[in-house]
Amino acid sequence: MNQKLIYEGKAKKVYQTQDPDIVVVEYKDDATAFNGLKKGAIIGKGAVNNKVSNHLFKLLEKRGIPTHYEKEISDTQTLVKKVQIIPIEVIVRNIAAGSLCKRLGLSEGAKLKSTVLEYCYKNDDLGDPMINEYHIKALGLATEEELDTIAKYSFLTNQILTDYLKDMNIELIDFKLEFGRFKGEVILADEISPDTCRFWDSKSGEKLDKDRFRQDLGQVEEAYQEILRRLMGA
Ligand code: UDP
Repeated sequence: MNQKLIYEGKAKKVYQTQDPDIVVVEYKDDATAFNGLKKGAIIGKGAVNNKVSNHLFKLLEKRGIPTHYEKEISDTQTLVKKVQIIPIEVIVRNIAAGSLCKRLGLSEGAKLKSTVLEYCYKNDDLGDPMINEYHIKALGLATEEELDTIAKYSFLTNQILTDYLKDMNIELIDFKLEFGRFKGEVILADEISPDTCRFWDSKSGEKLDKDRFRQDLGQVEEAYQEILRRLMGA
């Protein structure tokens, strides 16, 4: 395949196709954390993230959330709609973990009384600072209407995924979403995978996500494969 590379990020490459509305996303095994300060590789991660993300996007589509997913074409590559990414990371939280614990002095695992939605400005040079709806409007990152859609889809995604994962003994602690514009509509883009979600085993509380890499907990590859196995019986 002689495709033209149009973008390379920390965990993915994006290639052009003949169709101007469609691109190929290729998931890499490379892993980074703490805004690129920690670097490494997780063998098999690209394939796990590709398959897990596609599986969850298909589920969300069926439940009425428009996504960029088109077609899986190999273990690590998928055709997706070419969107204009809205430069906001949406973080949805059910249980306290990660930066929320540091910021608010909560202990890891504390149940939140209601779901928390946070926004970060996607800007590596600034370290993806947290922003609110006023900043988003003041900077012109998204319109009020787009932001309403983003919030609605984010809460609905949380509900659908939380219920779905519960049956696989996976607790959805928190996750990050990105949205894009496609032909005037806001659709769910990027990925939903152990790189972008916190997944804990419902019974043991064992971490089955990128925190194993971030915190040097070991058994990183095994945790990614375990998520794939629980979701797809692989
Ligand atoms: N997250 C992500 N990309 C980022 C920042 C966060 O995918 O650039 C995900 C992260 O994996 C977790 C959730 O968003 O599932 C909340 O992350 P948090 O704000 O606690 O930051 P972290 O402690 O992971 O840096």
